[in-house]
Amino acid sequence: MKKYDVIIVGAGVIGSAAAYNLAKKNLDVLVLEKEEIGIGGSSRNGGGVRQSARKAEELPLAIYAVNNIWPNLEKELGVNIEYHQEGNLRLGKTEAHRQILADIVAQGQAQGLELELIKRDEIKKICPYISDEVQYASYCPTDGHANPMKTTLAYYKKALELGVKFITGEEVTSVLIKEGKIAGVKTKTDSYSSQKVILAAGYESKFIADSLGIEIPMRKLLVEVLVTEPRELMFDQMIGTAGSDFYGHQSEHGSFVFGGMTGNEPYQFDQKRRVTLKRTAPSISRAILNYFPLLKDLNVIRTWSGFLDQTPDHLPIISRVEEIDNFYLACGFSGHGFGIAPAVGELIADLAAEEDPALNLSSFKYDRFHPKS
Ligand SMILES: Cc1cc2nc3c(=O)[nH]c(=O)nc-3n(C[C@H](O)[C@H](O)[C@H](O)COP(=O)(O)OP(=O)(O)OC[C@H]3O[C@@H](n4cnc5c(N)ncnc54)[C@H](O)[C@@H]3O)c2cc1C
Repeated sequence: MKKYDVIIVGAGVIGSAAAYNLAKKNLDVLVLEKEEIGIGGSSRNGGGVRQSARKAEELPLAIYAVNNIWPNLEKELGVNIEYHQEGNLRLGKTEAHRQILADIVAQGQAQGLELELIKRDEIKKICPYISDEVQYASYCPTDGHANPMKTTLAYYKKALELGVKFITGEEVTSVLIKEGKIAGVKTKTDSYSSQKVILAAGYESKFIADSLGIEIPMRKLLVEVLVTEPRELMFDQMIGTAGSDFYGHQSEHGSFVFGGMTGNEPYQFDQKRRVTLKRTAPSISRAILNYFPLLKDLNVIRTWSGFLDQTPDHLPIISRVEEIDNFYLACGFSGHGFGIAPAVGELIADLAAEEDPALNLSSFKYDRFHPKS
C-alpha cells in the first residue's frame, strides 16, 4: 500500500490550504473528502475576510493573513477569488451599540489594528446607502471579502497541480494506530497509510478524534445565508452590525450575499440534509432593511444553510496532539474560519512538517478545555 507523508481528512478551505502549503514543502499528501471539495462551510459562508471584532487570541491570525497572504493569493493560486479590500463597517444605532463598537475598536487598536469609531457623516461618505438612523460604526479599512467557493477551489486546483491526491466520496471513520504510532486512516471502504494525519473535517473531526480517545468539545449550529438578484455596484465594504443580526456584502456580479443570526439557531440539528428554515430568511431580511431600507424591492433568489463547528470559547483548535505523535487538529472555527484560512493552512502545514510556525498557537490547543491541576 502506498504510504503518504501526510493524510488530511476534509477538503474544505482549511484542508485544501493545508494540502497546498504541504505540497509547497515537497511532501506527498493525500486528502480524503467524505462528499465533494468545499461542500461544507467553505463554500457556504458569507465571504468575510475580517480582522475587526475577532477575539484577542484570534486577531493575530487574521492580521497575519491580511498582511501576508490575502492580497497576493489571487496571483499565487492563479484564480480570480474576488478578493476586495475596501473595509468593514460594523453599524450601530443606539448608545448600547456605540458601547459595543467602542470596545471592539479599543481592543483592535490595542493590538495594532487600523480600526476607528466613526459617526454618521463619515459613514455616509463611505457608504451613502446606509439608513440615516445609523449613528456609529467601527471602520477597518483593511478588512474585506472574497468568494469562498472560488477560494476553496483555487487552493484545491493549485494543490492538485503540485501533486496532491484528492479522493472524494471517501468517509474517514477512524485513525489507525500501529505499535503506538499513527499508521494511517480507515474509511468506510478502505484504509490509507501515513505516519501523519491532520483532521480538518469541521464538526465531524470530533468523531474521528474520538476513535483515539481524544475529546474535542464542539457543537454544531445551523446558520443561513441568502443571495439577492443583482444590482449595479452600490458598495464594496463588508457590512456587519453591533447586534450581529446580519452581515454581508455585494458580490462582483452585483448580487448581495447576506447572512445573519435570528438568535434562535438550532444546535445539533440532526437532519443530514442542510435544510433552510422558514423563519430565517424573513428574519435576516428584516434586519437588513433596518440598515438598508433602499434594498426593499430586491428579490431574494436563493437561500442556503451550513453548519458551524462551535467550540466552548469560540476559538479554533489548531494544534498538535500531545498524547499521539504526528496527529494534528485544525477544526472548531466557530463561524469565522474563512478569513483566517490562508494563515491556518500555512501554520498547520508548518506544524505537520515539524517546522516552527510563524505565530504562537498556544491559545488554540485542543486540551485547553480540560481541567488543569
Ligand atoms: C453560513 C456560514 C457563514 C459563514 N460566514 C463566514 C464569514 O463571513 N467569514 C469567515 O471567516 N467565516 C465564515 N464562516 C465560517 C467558515 O465557513 C468556516 O469556518 C470554514 O469554512 C471552515 O473550513 P473547514 O475547512 O474547517 O470546514 P468545512 O468547509 O466544513 O470542511 C470540512 C470538510 O470535511 C469533510 N468531512 C467531514 N467529515 C469527514 C469524514 N469523516 N471523512 C472525510 N471528510 C469529512 C466535509 O465534507 C467538509 O468538506 C461561515 C460559515 C457558515 C456555515
